[in-house]
Amino acid sequence: MNSTKPVAELTTAVGCLKGIGPKRKKDLERAGIRTIEDLLFHLPFRYEDRRTVRAISSLRAGERALFGGEVVSAEVQKTHRRRFSIFRAVIEDESGRMLAMWFNQPYLADTIKPGYKISLFGEVRASGFGGGILEAQNAHFEIGKDAEGEAGVVPVYEKVGSVPGRVIRHAVGDLLERYSLPLPTSVPPSVLERLGLLGSEEALRLIHAPPPDADVVKLNAWCHPAQNSLVFEEFFMLQAGLALRRRTAREETKGIAFGTSPQIRETLLKMLPFRLTEGQRQAFKEIVDDMTSAQPMRRLLQGDVGCGKTIVALLAAALAVENGYQAVLMVPTEILAEQHFASVRSHLSHTGYRTALLTGSLAGGEKERVRQGVAAGDVDLVVGTHALIQEGVEFRRLGLAIIDEQHRFGVLQRARLMEGGAEAEPDVLIMTATPIPRSLTLTVFGDLSLSIITDMPPGRQPVVTAARSERSRGRINSFLESQMKEGRQIYAVAPVIEESKSGELQTATELHERLQRTFPRRKVTLLHGRMKPAEREAAMKAFVGGEIDVLACTTVIEVGVDVPNATVMLIENADRFGLSQLHQLRGRVGRGEHRGYCILLYRPGRGENARHRLEIMVKTTDGFKIAEKDLELRGPGDFFGTRQSGMPTLRVGNIIRDAEVLQAARREAFKLIIEPGSGEADERRELIETVRSHWERRYGLVLIG
Ligand code: ADP
Ligand code: MG
Repeated sequence: MNSTKPVAELTTAVGCLKGIGPKRKKDLERAGIRTIEDLLFHLPFRYEDRRTVRAISSLRAGERALFGGEVVSAEVQKTHRRRFSIFRAVIEDESGRMLAMWFNQPYLADTIKPGYKISLFGEVRASGFGGGILEAQNAHFEIGKDAEGEAGVVPVYEKVGSVPGRVIRHAVGDLLERYSLPLPTSVPPSVLERLGLLGSEEALRLIHAPPPDADVVKLNAWCHPAQNSLVFEEFFMLQAGLALRRRTAREETKGIAFGTSPQIRETLLKMLPFRLTEGQRQAFKEIVDDMTSAQPMRRLLQGDVGCGKTIVALLAAALAVENGYQAVLMVPTEILAEQHFASVRSHLSHTGYRTALLTGSLAGGEKERVRQGVAAGDVDLVVGTHALIQEGVEFRRLGLAIIDEQHRFGVLQRARLMEGGAEAEPDVLIMTATPIPRSLTLTVFGDLSLSIITDMPPGRQPVVTAARSERSRGRINSFLESQMKEGRQIYAVAPVIEESKSGELQTATELHERLQRTFPRRKVTLLHGRMKPAEREAAMKAFVGGEIDVLACTTVIEVGVDVPNATVMLIENADRFGLSQLHQLRGRVGRGEHRGYCILLYRPGRGENARHRLEIMVKTTDGFKIAEKDLELRGPGDFFGTRQSGMPTLRVGNIIRDAEVLQAARREAFKLIIEPGSGEADERRELIETVRSHWERRYGLVLIG
């Protein structure tokens, strides 16, 4: 590396770079690119191999190539009532002539003029004029240069606002040529060396300004060592922070060592209305191991919809209560809180535990009474919404917090949630509503231990799933009627509540009206998130109680509700939902002795992609497989369907594309931070310092430990 270059200050505003004036600066800033560092991490999305300038006569149809020469003629042609234009130029070098054309860019006539030198890069094909003439359509070009001017392996950048990729390339190129970068590598040297990784600066230089002998194929496949090195470093810092959190929770925080006497075992056994599955037993064993150790539990319990996570969590709660501690079960919605509360009461009826429900719809005085009871230790087990409990419930002796059905408690949110001031930290068990792909689990919940239930309670029949066009409504209606005749109940789900902007989507209110018209003698009720809590509660209660035949609703019923008599899940505009969400909805039926049916409605003509997504739902019942597909199709940002997912933002890594690098980074980071005696003490101490400041800077989180 050239050490004589001056060092660039990474926090310098992009406005000082070559070619970036005030207008472009503003555009970059709008896209979040404020500093030199931001720009350096705006990486090329592909590379063009322009190392060999080709003679025009040597080009063959189908090739992508660099060539150039002089513009012989140029003209704009308008076609079809001037709605469409072609700009056409004839290019000539010593060996021959060819055509270049650009569509709907008539202004190019001002840039590309006869007599100019031009270099082009693009795909060459046989011209429609025949006669062996070749043409290039919409090729990249540069004026005033011979083809040599652009030679090399050229990085191509995404345009940012009005700033062309070309301008970004020149700005970054100029920066790298003139300055060295104060970018220390955070990965310890021993790891870099063993895995053959490059340091940050070297990697960034290679990525932005590949040398003439760079491996373009690897760069374009995003598996070049320089790219891997940069991604590794990002994942490594993330995972090292997670490892540090886990270590802190384990070793430096005092937890509660719960006891398990034969008598306690007896009590827990009595709670069980059925035999646990092997998966449930294993998960509970892992939880008990954590709870009986003096280190606080930080565990994630995953399993497919319907695998029976609730009873496992209740057993854990009972273990805490039997030890004289309080337990809390937090859920995202009121409806769910009420349902869980009811199931808690029935499972725990023989125990005499003092239970309480805490939701927003309780009258003020009642709320206060529950709060006081919890604070005084008069309540053993409280079930409530996340919002209310975090809002300020003090516990006398909290032993176990169970967080259910909540994606919003990724690592970033939890950091602010569970760090209480008690002398011993309560144990924490988190449950997710649907399976989460492994790579996401490692990122969002990467500091937690993991229990996975992979089996299902016996006798569970898969829900019969069908994708149907709206043309089948008549037949579907007869089917619904036949189910209702047998006494079953139906969920009908719409993607929006009312007046969708485009009018394209079925709204819950319309759906409600239509179904009531179709089935005048049946009771159809509306349920959505904008109704008053009391109305919502009344509707849900009536459905649970079997007084309602059809519940026309939005996804408020998505999470967790349990109505064994409901057998049909009808989903309007099903292709608008995420796969995991559809799976979660489907999991609401077929929970009792009757077979469940899931009908996915789509509008004809929504395209291949929509059909493909619904096909996956029809063919697959495995929630873990569906989750992986969903992640693949929607990307990590949208998987949870909320920005609040606690997914740390990544600059260069992509957990799908770079899944292997993620695994490797996790392995190394956890080994270094958690295993005593791995690596050198100095190296580890230095790493911990770096990780701390990195997390504070990137995620605004203070890591202790
Ligand atoms: P989820 O994992 O989706 O939260 P639940 O805990 O709600 O699933 O369980 C789904 C249903 O299966 C419930 O009705 C529950 O009573 C029942 N169940 C759970 N475990 C068993 C089991 N081992 N044997 C029989 N039924 C079970
Ligand atoms: Mg559940």
